[in-house]
Amino acid sequence: MSTHYDVLGVAKDATPEEIKKAYRKLARKLHPDVNPGEDASEQFKAVTHAYEVLSDHDKRSNYDATGNENGNGSQGFGGGGAGFGGFGDIFEQFFGGNQAQGPASRTQRGRDALITATIDLKDAVLGVVYPLEMETAVTCPTCQGSCCRPGTHPETCTICRGAGQVQRPVRSFLGQMMTVETCPACRGFGTTIPEPCNECLGQGRVRERMSKQLKIPVGVATGTRIHLANQGEAGTGGGPNGDLYVEIEVRRHKTFEREGDDLHATMNVPMTAAALGADLKLETFDGTETLAVEPGTQSGATVRLAGLGVPSLRSGRRGDIIVHIQVETPSKIDAAQRDLLEQLAKLRGEEFAEGRMEHTGGMFSRLRDKLGNRGA
Ligand SMILES: [Zn+2]
Ligand SMILES: [Zn+2]
Repeated sequence: MSTHYDVLGVAKDATPEEIKKAYRKLARKLHPDVNPGEDASEQFKAVTHAYEVLSDHDKRSNYDATGNENGNGSQGFGGGGAGFGGFGDIFEQFFGGNQAQGPASRTQRGRDALITATIDLKDAVLGVVYPLEMETAVTCPTCQGSCCRPGTHPETCTICRGAGQVQRPVRSFLGQMMTVETCPACRGFGTTIPEPCNECLGQGRVRERMSKQLKIPVGVATGTRIHLANQGEAGTGGGPNGDLYVEIEVRRHKTFEREGDDLHATMNVPMTAAALGADLKLETFDGTETLAVEPGTQSGATVRLAGLGVPSLRSGRRGDIIVHIQVETPSKIDAAQRDLLEQLAKLRGEEFAEGRMEHTGGMFSRLRDKLGNRGA
């Protein structure tokens, strides 16, 4: 018994492309429209069946493993004695023909809509009611989506008799064939509208400017999408609405930068305050907070205000505010200040001479300590 590979005349390890090519070549030769003989018809069935199996990855693997399809030992073709009909699907699929379908429905679901809501960081922390303004489509109030002038009705198309499609003969490499086309008279709907509604011009929907108040939940971030089912555009012909997606964009804040549910801020602290300690004020979304800067605070130290960050979108639990301390060294000092600083340096044994530190060894040894005490 010849294998599917023999039937198509390809090697057992043929690539999908080679199999496709071989089938195409044989189909041109054997298609019943070109070659009406009984033998050709049988051969055509055989090559089409072989192609059906070998072009499908799973079927081919199974065939290679067992020598037949699904344990079905016989070469029983699905199409039986019904001639070419049983292979319509695969043939159409292969050669890109279109299958006959019923008429299209005028009633279509509306499109999904996406609009952007730009909010402040404060709104993401505390929540906000956002005024959405959008151009959308709503079901026509005059015809209620029927597309017909009130009191009139759609009529069955006289060209396609309601099928929505018409057949047309075309010449192809296989000879004369019939193709199915969308009916030009009714555009595939199978019905025509003799008197379209004036308001929607027979579309069943009209465009409208709409505004609605959207409660934006706390915790949203740039990129968060709020899904509002059935609040998108109305469909044509009275079809259901699509969905509305509102994508959030959060404006940059002058003080805070968000990282997850935490808010980071940088605060410049004068050298003296960092050394002596100070209570500093920080404007948060919950009001003015006092930030305790401990005496001896280093540049880069952080102070955390727990629970004053952004609420988690899921749990509502709030993140923290993390303040990064940046110690500011005075860059302009007058004579009196200079005098004081020099006295301080002297007291601390940190004197400079002609811009150079006198006992640099101390500084560098400390650095060495930090690096792991290598050498002396
Ligand atoms: Zn209308
Ligand atoms: Zn028609």
